[in-house]
Parts: sequence; structure tokens; C-alpha cells
Amino acid sequence: MTEVSNSTPLLFTVSGLRGIVGQSFFPSTVTEYASAFGTWCKSGRVVLARDTRASGEMLKMAVSSALLSAGCEVIDIGITPTPTVGLAVTDLKAKGGITVTASHNPIQWNALKFFNHNGRYLSSAEIEAIRRLVEKKNFKYKDSSGLGSIRVDNSQIKKHIAKILKLKLVLVEKIKRTGLKVAIDACNGAGFQAAPELLRALGCRIVEVSCDNTGTFPRGPEPVAKNLKELENKVKKTRADIGFALDPDADRLAIISEMGRAIGEEYTLALAVDYVLSRKPGKVVVNLSTSRMVEEIARRHGCRIEKTKVGEANVSLKLEQVKGLIGGEGNGGVILPELHYTRDGLLAMALILSYMAESGETITSLIAEIPKYYIVKQVLTVEGNWESKLGNLKSRFAGARATTLDGVRFDFTDSWLHLRQSNTEPVVRIIAEAKSRQAASALVRQALRTLKTS
Ligand code: MG
Repeated sequence: MTEVSNSTPLLFTVSGLRGIVGQSFFPSTVTEYASAFGTWCKSGRVVLARDTRASGEMLKMAVSSALLSAGCEVIDIGITPTPTVGLAVTDLKAKGGITVTASHNPIQWNALKFFNHNGRYLSSAEIEAIRRLVEKKNFKYKDSSGLGSIRVDNSQIKKHIAKILKLKLVLVEKIKRTGLKVAIDACNGAGFQAAPELLRALGCRIVEVSCDNTGTFPRGPEPVAKNLKELENKVKKTRADIGFALDPDADRLAIISEMGRAIGEEYTLALAVDYVLSRKPGKVVVNLSTSRMVEEIARRHGCRIEKTKVGEANVSLKLEQVKGLIGGEGNGGVILPELHYTRDGLLAMALILSYMAESGETITSLIAEIPKYYIVKQVLTVEGNWESKLGNLKSRFAGARATTLDGVRFDFTDSWLHLRQSNTEPVVRIIAEAKSRQAASALVRQALRTLKTS
């Protein structure tokens, strides 16, 4: 295997295989993992997709070649949102799926995300099985008479949208009657066609921002407030009722209010949960880094909430175990098991628009009803022994209730602090939430001081 330096890592976690193209991510890298996946899928049918990144086609061809060599029947569904891939796997009764996307990572990165035959991300155990095959180079290659086949299927985005429109929770006729004006920023990513298409089907008047397949991202790809200035201005200028911002693989969604203000990606799940629980009661599942707003909303509706390790696969698994109604992550990822177990930006748009149409309220007035918390997030490269740093943190915050399910989370009376190693980048993520921004920032500062001095 190609030698990889620490500054350009190759990561293989429950979030998939990620690296920097030309530094730690080569055709040879993805070929090995795709060969392992094809072997693991027992040469069955595999769905293949990608996002719009310029490196996508090159990597997709390498993946495709490996799958064909393993004897797989490859169904190429083109440039599609990540959630579409999960649905396509079940629709096509495939053994698995691979999409070439590094999601919210910068354009230099790319990644493979793997799905199992249920259209879900691979579990940690399934990821380990693939890792073992790669390590032993235990690939079952076919001879020239047993090679796989490839065909193109361009119908999957339409099918995905049709499934969203069929949900009882999505009030298609009401949204159409309301005639909402919606500005949509797809970051020129995988939702560039699918998002406007869904909004058209819902009868919205659409203002498009970065809905082109250019292979480049015009803004920072994470749908966080600092990256959404253009959309904020567009909402103001066109007097839109709402702005939606997707990440490049369209599984995360952020909202801009009618005042032209990015309200923070934490509100996407909060609003979706508030809406869904107002229609019917059920259990909610979130990860440990998700805003307490969601907890309070669930409590108001008399519903239970469960928390998991960070990582979509962990939330999905728990949703299945507890037969949850809705769940997701505070980063703008909404999962509705009735549709599927994948975070889905298109679904989130349809739920939020249903909430607006049903209530007749603006985004500003809907969020005014949600208990207010301030969340502060920081990313840090940590040198040295992470385990011993965790020990120091535990002594520093000895007065708080500590949970060590994923890194460490400290719960105080009306605030919390969570520190964990990222699944997608070689960094530590620090998140604090409190009743004021100052209090949340103070918690982050205290954590940083402890990490730096230990
Ligand atoms: Mg994503």
C-alpha cells in the first residue's frame, strides 16, 4: 500500500473511507477497498453513485473497475444525493452500494461511503470485515468469463422524490396552496438537480443559488452560518419565505429565516422533530453532540429521547432498536425511519415546509417557540496521548456528570460540554452548549486550556 504521511491521512471509519486526492487517496487505494466490498457482497448487484467533485469521475471509474473484476453487477445511478443511494439499494434489491463523496469535507478530499443490502451505512462490525479483507488482500477476482456487468439507471432521484411526496407527514397540497418562495443553495453539489426538482413538485417558487454541476464549490461546503452569506443576501433581496442550504452530498440541511439570517444548523432537526411530534408521538434518537433544544421539545410533547455515539450509523441503529419515530444529528441531519435510515436533506426540506404550511407561521416565529440555547463548536488538532488528556479533563470537570460513550461529555445543570475525536478528520471536536453564548464559549476555553496544559 502507498505510504501515507500523518499530515495527509487515510481514514476508514463508520463514516467511510476518506482521504485527500493525490496525497492519500489514489485510484489504487479505492480499488483495494472496492475489491474488498465486491468480495464481501459475494459478486452481487452493487449501486454506484457520486457527488459533483471534479475527482469523482476518476474515482468512480476505479471503483467500478474493481467491482466488475469481483464479478459484481454495477448499477450506475449517476450524480445523486447520498440518501438517494440508500433508497436505490433497496429499490434495486442490491447487495450493497458505494457512493463517491467526501460530504462536507473541502474539495481536495474525496471518500467512499458504503451501504449494506438494507440501504444503510455499514455497521462497525461490517466495516471491520472489509478492513480485514483489505489487510489480507483477500479479494475474489473473476477470470475473463466471470466478470461483472454495468448499466446506467437515471430514475433514482425521481423515485426518491416520489417516496418523500407519498409520506403522510409531507403535506403536499397544503404546501402548494401556500405558494412559498424558497431560495435553495446546493453548493453545486449532489443535490443540484434533486433539490430544485423536489421544490418544484411541492409548487414552491424557487430562487436557485449554486445549483450547477461545475465540479467546484463556491462556498465552504459545510452548511454553517459563516458559509451562507450569499444565500442570506439572496433571501433578503428576493423576499423569500425561507432559504435552504445543503452540504455537497445533500444529507445535511441548514435554514435561512425570512429575515435573511442563517439560524444555525442545530435548528433543522429541532424544527423537524417539533413538527413530526406535533402530528404523532414517538421516540426520538439523537447523538451526544446534538442540541438540548431537541431534548426539551421531546419533553414538551411527552416523548422519550435516546442518545448515541456520534456517527449516523450509530443513530440509525438505535432508531431501529427502539423503533424510533424520528432522529438525527445537530449538524442538520434528519432521519425518518418511515422513509429510510439515512440522513436526508430533501426529506428535511419537505418536513420544514410542511410545518410552515400547516402552522401558517414564519421561520422566525417558529423558532421563537423553541427553548433557546447557544452552541459553540471548535476543532483542534491534538498532539500527544488522547486517553491521558481525557483523564485530565475528567479531573478538571469533576463536578459534572460525565458520559464516556464517545470521548467524554460533561453535563451541568443548564449546559454541557462534549469532546471527541472526529470520524471524518484527524481532529478533536469540542462542542459546548449553554443558555448564553458567553457561558458556552467559557466552557470551550476551559477545555482548551486543560488540553493544552496536559
Ligand atoms: Mg453530507
